[in-house]
Amino acid sequence: MDAAGGFGFEYISSVTLRDFNFGPVGKEDAVNLEVGGNKLSAPGFTVCKGCGRIKQNEHSKNKRPQHDFDCPYAKHSEKAEWIEGLILYREYQSDALRIRLPSGLLAASYGPEVLSASLTAALRLGLKRYFHGSVDHLQFIQIEEPQEGAEKLYYIVVYDTVPGGTGYLKELMADPKNLIGVFREALDVMVNCDCGGDPNAKGCYKCVYQYRDSSNRKHISKLCAIDILSELTSNQKVIRPGVLDTRNNTDGDSELEVRFIRALGKSGLVAEMKRCQEGTPHYLIKMQSGKLWRMDLQVDLLGDVPSRPDFVLRPWKESERTHENEMAIFTDGWRYHADIVGEDCAKRQSILNTGRHVWTLSWHDVPDTQSDNEITDRLLLLRCKRSFIYFGGNVHG
Ligand SMILES: [Zn+2]
Ligand SMILES: [Zn+2]
Repeated sequence: MDAAGGFGFEYISSVTLRDFNFGPVGKEDAVNLEVGGNKLSAPGFTVCKGCGRIKQNEHSKNKRPQHDFDCPYAKHSEKAEWIEGLILYREYQSDALRIRLPSGLLAASYGPEVLSASLTAALRLGLKRYFHGSVDHLQFIQIEEPQEGAEKLYYIVVYDTVPGGTGYLKELMADPKNLIGVFREALDVMVNCDCGGDPNAKGCYKCVYQYRDSSNRKHISKLCAIDILSELTSNQKVIRPGVLDTRNNTDGDSELEVRFIRALGKSGLVAEMKRCQEGTPHYLIKMQSGKLWRMDLQVDLLGDVPSRPDFVLRPWKESERTHENEMAIFTDGWRYHADIVGEDCAKRQSILNTGRHVWTLSWHDVPDTQSDNEITDRLLLLRCKRSFIYFGGNVHG
């Protein structure tokens, strides 16, 4: 299991970009339009039929001439005819870099909005440093792609707004090490930034924030970017660009683990859940009852038959731990275990023999919290009744 697994990127040497401008935002009589699943207000522009100038707001402070000097309505503005709801559009060829967001456990503990906004901010920062200057001609967009029967996929697309491309992205992709270099540059700035001293700072204008584009700022977390980039850059695996296969990116087991973590965090019994990096990665889980638990990942358990559960839950305080209050959790994708049921049973029996509890989950046990938050708590409570009553601290009650 890879904490930042699912990460991938590809260079698209020729991409057709379609740029729409749906008009000024905040206009009340806006038409609602749906583009790529997002609802937009698309009032369009009102322009003069004679000269094409955009109609000025009557209350606008900086009044400029309403018409070109050679416009037939220049001297008789009251007679001007207007074209309403004009949408601007241009289409051009350029190049782009598409990055699939990590979908592993580390990524799941932050959630897609924070992950996407933070990684985008870090990427922009890294590129600025890498190219020693402004990269304003590079645009960053965040895209989500629904998948049938699986978690959504999230991408960041970086594209060159100069038709034909400026060569920046091509140069970057010339060597796969370069992107890791960009991540390292970003990490360096974030880790050493002045805002590092404040544990609550989510970033500042010297690192991940930038002055324009404030819409995503609430989702930007420097901590998230540092966590993910540390994971990606410390990975000794060679990272090279490939073609992203959108249908076949996740292996069943780790996707189920991710879903389990998310469902657990949203369960009504859990007050707070935090991923900790000290030592081996683990989770600190604070129950509504106030009791603290620790959940370790991929723990090797000895016994008659050695095994490695996906998670082991135990009291946070070492002094409170006994085999009887430890629980081994297996999140099994059925397709990977159908052939080895006998072996699995032996492993589980061996754990039970030590006095520990065993909990096995399959796809049907773990609700998809992304599609239905509301039923999650109820389902988890229902499904976990046996195990979680004890988990909440009432094991003997
Ligand atoms: Zn005019
Ligand atoms: Zn900063």
